[in-house]
Amino acid sequence: MSSFQSSRFAGLTAYVPGEQPRDRRYIKLNTNESPYPPSESVLRAAAEAAKGLNLYCDPTALGLRMAAAEVYGVTPEMVLPVNGSDEILNFAFMAFCDRGTPVAYPETSYGFYPVLADLHGIIKREIPLKNDFSVDFHDYLGLGCTVVIANPNAPTGIALGLDEVERIVAANPGNVVVIDEAYVDFGAESAISLTKKYENLLVTRTFSKSHSLAGARLGFGIGDKGLIADLTAIKDSTNPYNVNAMTQAAGIAAFKDNGYYMENCRRVARTREDTAESLRALGFEATPSKANFLFVRHPEISGGELYEKLRGKGILVRHFSKESIAGYNRITVGAPEEMEALIRATRDILSGAGGNSNAKK
Ligand SMILES: *Cc1c(COP(=O)(O)O)cnc(C)c1O
Repeated sequence: MSSFQSSRFAGLTAYVPGEQPRDRRYIKLNTNESPYPPSESVLRAAAEAAKGLNLYCDPTALGLRMAAAEVYGVTPEMVLPVNGSDEILNFAFMAFCDRGTPVAYPETSYGFYPVLADLHGIIKREIPLKNDFSVDFHDYLGLGCTVVIANPNAPTGIALGLDEVERIVAANPGNVVVIDEAYVDFGAESAISLTKKYENLLVTRTFSKSHSLAGARLGFGIGDKGLIADLTAIKDSTNPYNVNAMTQAAGIAAFKDNGYYMENCRRVARTREDTAESLRALGFEATPSKANFLFVRHPEISGGELYEKLRGKGILVRHFSKESIAGYNRITVGAPEEMEALIRATRDILSGAGGNSNAKK
């Protein structure tokens, strides 16, 4: 920190993304990317768009909004494309929270929520999960706060049903409810259909996990056109060209290939179930995840130790130091071969630690 820093940001604690190390090749199971490549037509569309990079891109991203509207069953006025869904979350905190309107979210959830609240000086209401790590929708009825819920939640992977989401939205008519659907395509129910019925619901999506475009930075806000107008005003006041030309073209092509990506999501979901079964056979407990990751704990090895030992074997997983979940690791579901390597390495670690007699038989 320099002596020039604005006093507004003196106490800022920045978000720390999962590591993207370049020192060696790892099996990367730490940041929930897709193990499958973008489709051919996405690569072609991005390369074609690159030829026009001397010109600014469309600041309204109209083609992309039309493609999104068609796939999601809404109108283009109900869609705002963004530079990764972290950007729409930032806009939503700016647009819908202030001194008189705190933000409420589950105490164990996506680590960006408290960072954004602090960045904008918004009061936080962190609501504990139930003992089984699920969100109790009763805790979010009529709060008088902006509500933000990741569904499925991170890092637990546990999802609310659509009826529970609707209860929350309907019980907060004077406040915006943001449902962060970063992982919904891996097996949970989307609330997008409700955006036509409720003017206080904002659904956020990302192409980072389900559509193999983490590096392109593409996300969406979907909601009533009033909410989208508010968010667009903030976008146009900070970065009118927020989604670059190559990413706009890649996104349109990805929507045209939506079937390919949905099939990949189903493959990941099958691999998730197979991996959960193998890990349980090694003595792990796993939450019932509907996302592209597993959240697991072993009674005989700490989360931190397992993380370090896997790293030593070239496998990266995510460990959070937050006390209530420090026993756990979040493991991204990769390709089947990657998960087989994970199981082999884990079995070796557990038997080396004398931790699992089954592994030796
Ligand atoms: C990954 C993630 C995001 C952000 O993804 P972007 O790469 O910024 O689109 C948002 N919310 C949750 C819960 C996530 O896990």
